[in-house]
Amino acid sequence: MTNSTQQPESIVIVGGGTAGWMCAAYLAAKWSQRYRITLIESAQIGTVGVGEGSTPFLRQFFAELGWQESDWMPACDATYKTGIEFSNWTGSERFKRYFHPFFSALDLDTAEHFFANCNQVRRGQNAAVRPAQFFSAATMAEAAVTPVSTTLGGDIDYAYHFDAGKLASCLRSFAVQQGVKHLTGNVLNVQCTNGHITQLETDCSAPLTATLFIDCSGFRGLLMKQGLGQSLQSYQDCLFNDRAVAIPTPHNHPQQAITPQTRSEGLSCGWMWNIPLTSRVGNGYVYGSHFCSPEQAEAELRQRLKVSDETPARHLTMPVGRLQEHWHGNCVAIGLAQGFIEPLEATALMLVQYGIYQLSSRLGELVTITSRTQYNTEMNRMFDGIRDYIVAHYYLNTRNDSPYWQACRNDIRVPENLTLLVNAWDGKGQFEDALESIDEQLVYLRPSWYCILAGMGRFKSEAVNLSDPGAAAGIQQYLTRTVGEHFKAQLMPSR
Ligand SMILES: Cc1cc2nc3c(=O)[nH]c(=O)nc-3n(C[C@H](O)[C@H](O)[C@H](O)COP(=O)(O)OP(=O)(O)OC[C@H]3O[C@@H](n4cnc5c(N)ncnc54)[C@H](O)[C@@H]3O)c2cc1C
Repeated sequence: MTNSTQQPESIVIVGGGTAGWMCAAYLAAKWSQRYRITLIESAQIGTVGVGEGSTPFLRQFFAELGWQESDWMPACDATYKTGIEFSNWTGSERFKRYFHPFFSALDLDTAEHFFANCNQVRRGQNAAVRPAQFFSAATMAEAAVTPVSTTLGGDIDYAYHFDAGKLASCLRSFAVQQGVKHLTGNVLNVQCTNGHITQLETDCSAPLTATLFIDCSGFRGLLMKQGLGQSLQSYQDCLFNDRAVAIPTPHNHPQQAITPQTRSEGLSCGWMWNIPLTSRVGNGYVYGSHFCSPEQAEAELRQRLKVSDETPARHLTMPVGRLQEHWHGNCVAIGLAQGFIEPLEATALMLVQYGIYQLSSRLGELVTITSRTQYNTEMNRMFDGIRDYIVAHYYLNTRNDSPYWQACRNDIRVPENLTLLVNAWDGKGQFEDALESIDEQLVYLRPSWYCILAGMGRFKSEAVNLSDPGAAAGIQQYLTRTVGEHFKAQLMPSR
C-alpha cells in the first residue's frame, strides 16, 4: 500500500516455514478471488524445523480450510494432545509433577470443585488440589486414549503433535491448489521508501512488487527488521532461555498406546520437551546460555535420553521478544519474524493463527493508520498475555539445586499482572476478583491459573491434601469411568 488508505491487491509472502504456508493457505482459501498471492522461499536457508506441539485453537484453522483429520494427520505423523505434564519444576517431592489440561464441557462441574478446594486450602483448610484429579484431559492422558468420542456429547478440547516439516508440505500443496504462486529463490535486497517496501530483488524472478508484503522469514526478520528497521522488544529481563538443542529418538515401545500429552521436565538449566509422534519422539532441551554452554546442554540431554554421540543433535538460538509494530507501512510480520516467547506451552503457531485471522479480517477494508494500530495493539496483548503465563512457570519454581532455577525466581522482572495474581493468591483474598480485574488482558484463563498455582504447590498451609478419599476420589472415579466407556486407545498406525 503506497498510501495509508489503499486496499491490498497483491500479496507477497516471504518464507516457506509453517508460518508462511499457514498464511498462504488461509489467505488463498478466503481471498484468492480478490488478491494475487505469491510466496517465495529459499532453497538454501532452511526452516527452523521444530514446532511440533499445538494448542486446541489449531483445530479451528483446519476446520476453516475444510480439512478433516484424516486428510492431514497420517501424512504429518500426528498424534493427539490433551495437555502438558510438568515434572521437576519444584523442589518439593509432594509437588513433583502436575498436569496442565485442555478444558472440555466434561469438566464444567469437576473444575468448580477444584477451584473451591484450592480456595479452601488458601484459607487454611484441608482439601484435595491435584489438578489431574479433576480434569478429563489428565485422565485421558493417563489412559493413553484418543480424545475423540463418537458416543459422548459436548465438545472435547484437544490439540495435536505433528511433524512441522510435513505439515508445511501439506499446507503448501493446498495453497498452490488454491492458486498461490510459489517461487523458489532468495530475496537478495529489500527496497524501502518512507517506511514502505517498494520492491524485493530476488535471484529467481523480476523484482517483486505488492500492495502488501508478509514477512514470514523466521528469526532473521528480513523485511521488518532488516528492511524496515523495526527492532525486537526483548523479553529477556523476565525469560532467561535463549537456546535449545533437539534430539529426536525412536519410540522405545512402539507397540504401546501413545500417551496424548507433551512432557515438560525441568533439567539443570532449563527444561526438556518430549513429544510423541507416530514416527518418532521429539525431544529437546530449552536452556539459558548464561547458565550452560551448548556442549553442556547437549551432554545433559544425551544423558537424560540415554543416547550416544552418534545420534545427531540440532542446536538453535532463539531470540525472545516481540516487535512493537507487527504491521508497519505495507508490511505485516507473522511467525518467528514478529517474535517468539519460548516453546513451553506450544503457543507460537497459535500466535501465527491469531495474526492471520486479525489480518484477514482487515483485508476487506481500506487499511488506515487506525486499523494498523488496532492490529498492533491486539497482537501485543496476545504476546504479553502469553508471556505472563510462561513467566509464571519460572517465578513459581521452588528449586534450589542450581543457580539457574534460583535466578529464574529471584532475578527476573515479574510482569505486573503476574504480580497482581500471585499476591491475590498468597493473600487468601479474592483471587477471583483479581482474575476478573485483568480479564481483558489475560490470554490464559481461570482454570490455567488455578492449575499452575496449585500444581506447583503455592500454598502456605501445611494442610494440603493431594488425594483425599472423599469427593475428589469420587470425581476421579467418575472421570475414569467416563473415559473408559467413551474413548479408545491411541494406537500406532500399522505401516
Ligand atoms: C526450540 C523451539 C521449539 C518450538 N516448539 C514449538 C511448539 O512446540 N509449538 C509451536 O507452536 N511452535 C514451536 N516453535 C516455534 C515454531 O517452530 C515456529 O513458530 C514455526 O515453525 C514457524 O516458523 P516460521 O515459519 O516463522 O520460520 P522458519 O521456519 O524459520 O521459516 C523461515 C522461512 O523463511 C525463508 N527465508 C529466510 N530468508 C529468506 C530469503 N532471504 N529469501 C527467501 N526466503 C527466505 C526460509 O527459507 C524459510 O522458508 C518452536 C521454536 C523453537 C525454536
